Amino acid sequence: MELNFEKASFKDFENIHGMDAYQRAAFFAEYLDYLRERGHLNYRMETMSGCGPEVEMDIPGYGGKKKYVSLVSNDYLGFTQHAMIKKAAIDGIMKYGTGAGASPAIGGHFSFHEMLENKIAGFFGREAAITYTTGYTANSASLLCLLKKEDMAILDMSVHASVYEGCMNTNIKMFLHNNMDALERALRESRDTHRTRIVVVDGVYSQDGDLAPLDKILELTHFYGAYLMVDDAHGIGVLGKTGRGLIEEYNMLDKVDIISGTFSKTFGHVGGYVVASAELIQFLKYQSRQHLFSVTASPASMSILKAIDLIDEEPEWQDLLWDNIVYFQDGLKGLGLDIGTSASGIVPVKVRDIPMTLEIGRLLLKAGVYANPIMYPAVAKKDSRIRMSLMATHTRPHLDKVLNAFADISKKLKLGSRYQ
Ligand code: PMP
Repeated sequence: MELNFEKASFKDFENIHGMDAYQRAAFFAEYLDYLRERGHLNYRMETMSGCGPEVEMDIPGYGGKKKYVSLVSNDYLGFTQHAMIKKAAIDGIMKYGTGAGASPAIGGHFSFHEMLENKIAGFFGREAAITYTTGYTANSASLLCLLKKEDMAILDMSVHASVYEGCMNTNIKMFLHNNMDALERALRESRDTHRTRIVVVDGVYSQDGDLAPLDKILELTHFYGAYLMVDDAHGIGVLGKTGRGLIEEYNMLDKVDIISGTFSKTFGHVGGYVVASAELIQFLKYQSRQHLFSVTASPASMSILKAIDLIDEEPEWQDLLWDNIVYFQDGLKGLGLDIGTSASGIVPVKVRDIPMTLEIGRLLLKAGVYANPIMYPAVAKKDSRIRMSLMATHTRPHLDKVLNAFADISKKLKLGSRYQ
């Protein structure tokens, strides 16, 4: 098999004609060795301390165990380390034990699950919610349940992988990212041909940190008789006057048909939710296979109840986060770097070349900065970038260290000239 490793991506190894699973695994191992030898294997890096603005790692060849400024966590408000949230998790375990023991239909539905479903529905001012054990499953499982072969999912092409997975049993029509003409065309053309049509968009997009024009999307979707589902995984706690995300900014909390999201980012835990009308949620509770046949969240998820309260009780975290976002984005722009259309806690530096992106990732690590190089298939090949997430708990010295590292790397690799 001929494959240029320099230009390759993980996607190239997904399925290779004529190679069985073990042969593919062996060939993939060669590719990983190639990346490892160059210091370009940046997946599954082992972090020894907890989630935070600074983490401890011992990367072979990088001078032993040391601290790195971390820009890889979506713990936007720093809640994974909040004393009251940790205590709520411990209290949950002390009261209920460490596990739920069964799927919800047959004994695994406890009072704290009921409280969490009611609380997250109430957070959005809505009727009902269902929880799943990950944000990924919340999207994929709910869509798998709602959309069948007579139906259609109309997807912004940049939605999260979990949404695509949820559309395996239905028809998919993708529209160009945030392009309202393309959305309208898809809605018009499918009006008489498909039964249930759900338009799925993110609030904040996970790779560019840009925002969906939700008002226009909702208007078009409802005009053509379709339903709107918004995954605002990266907007909650970050956007909206009271942290309810982009949907709150558009004053549409009572208008979006289905809201999905995750407990793994701002809420500082793990799990996912879908919020909608009481009947639709009840249908999911009894029909969604991944909910029905899989164990419920552990009692440690009681931490989420506290995190939801603290979004209202301690709004200063959202303010601190925004101070950091503005400072950091201005700093990167001041260096002549291209941060695209970011308007959230996710800030990319566009590089647009896979080997160069990997090299910048390595140089950042050498400078004590941990950030993610993102390449195809997560983004288009010509769209490779370093992706960073900011936290309320990053300090100015943390951010200055990152900006100084970018200044040095930019000079060394002549990054500024790439944008001319
Ligand atoms: N939706 C979006 C937009 C995401 O970015 C992610 C996670 N990166 C998910 C859903 C899945 O959430 P989780 O990691 O909690 O499963």
